[in-house]
Amino acid sequence: MKAKVSIVECVDYDIGRVKEAVRKAVSLTGGWEGVVERGNRVLVKPNMLSACPPEDGVTTHPAVVRAAVELVQEGGAEALIGDSPGGTNRDLSHFWEVCGYSEVSKVTGAPLVSLDRDILEVEVPDGVIYKRLHLSRTVIEADSLITVPKLKTHNLTLLTGAVKNLLGLIPGGGKIEFHRRCPRPDDLGEAIVDILSVAKPRLALMDAVVGMEGDGPVSGKLRDVGVILAGRDSVALDTVAQVMIGLKPFDVPTTRAAANRKLGTADLREIGLVGRSLEEAVIEDFVLPSNAMVRRIPRPILALIARRIMVRPRPRADKCTNCGFCMNNCPVDAICIEEKPVRVDYKKCILCLCCYELCPEKAMDLRKSLLARFWR
Ligand code: SF4
Ligand code: SF4
Repeated sequence: MKAKVSIVECVDYDIGRVKEAVRKAVSLTGGWEGVVERGNRVLVKPNMLSACPPEDGVTTHPAVVRAAVELVQEGGAEALIGDSPGGTNRDLSHFWEVCGYSEVSKVTGAPLVSLDRDILEVEVPDGVIYKRLHLSRTVIEADSLITVPKLKTHNLTLLTGAVKNLLGLIPGGGKIEFHRRCPRPDDLGEAIVDILSVAKPRLALMDAVVGMEGDGPVSGKLRDVGVILAGRDSVALDTVAQVMIGLKPFDVPTTRAAANRKLGTADLREIGLVGRSLEEAVIEDFVLPSNAMVRRIPRPILALIARRIMVRPRPRADKCTNCGFCMNNCPVDAICIEEKPVRVDYKKCILCLCCYELCPEKAMDLRKSLLARFWR
């Protein structure tokens, strides 16, 4: 049977329109049966990368999260909103508030759950990078998981979609360990797919009302896309999103790894599209991240020249407050805060771009290679 993915128009974040679009998108892919059962606990996992207001387009819009929560509740289940944003020692209540999820919780009654707490160890029977993972009891004991990403480019993994969103199930500093252990995007993709293999989201809902193009996932440009995507196969949903923005299915390490491990399909012939057609949904001039071109270089050549041509973080003197957050979250101790702005040791740097993603002041720019500049 084909994996169904729906693409449904949604022109803005009016809660009534978003809810109808989500309702329709889910109904086109088979409805809520098997996703939400009466009396179940359903974990709704947005992408809360950073403490940014909804209009910045960095995080899943609260209207989409609210629609998902309300529809879960209408199905007679208990909805929880849970995440663990990047970095360590951060004030999660500030994140919930700024991202607009505190308000969603207030309106719907759905509790906000830190996935940094009550950690258990689970086996990953078919893990490629990890044979065991630490996950919050909330993730392990939820009856159903709904991944609710935002359509954004990502300079390391090219897309941050339904599967990449699962990295936020890893508590706090555990995500830094993922980057330390997997400096190559292919290995990081396998590690994230290890999470997919145990978390098994039953539904993916993508906020593509406003997406992010260019050098995402934090400082790219906002782009009106005007749709919601839904599907039970997170890999198939990411595949459709990739094709919409001009990436090939196997360009994205998580999609490639998951499809190779048969945890979903990245073959458009095996995906049943409903709602809008792909031809209608494709955005011809969507701007890809600078590293997109780099990933198409044959791997043996790339291994030799990657460090010269991939984008790298560059601290900005006008914005850096020397808060040290980037230093504390750099997987390889490549940042020194004794200078202003902070200094990056590029000999140590593994180009994970965590500092760029996590800086609360957006004080890390991306320095593009000459090759990356020609790409535009
Ligand atoms: S670059 Fe950002 S995170 Fe790092 S010290 Fe400066 S302001 Fe803080
Ligand atoms: S300096 Fe930034 S990009 Fe380089 S390894 Fe550290 S966190 Fe990653």
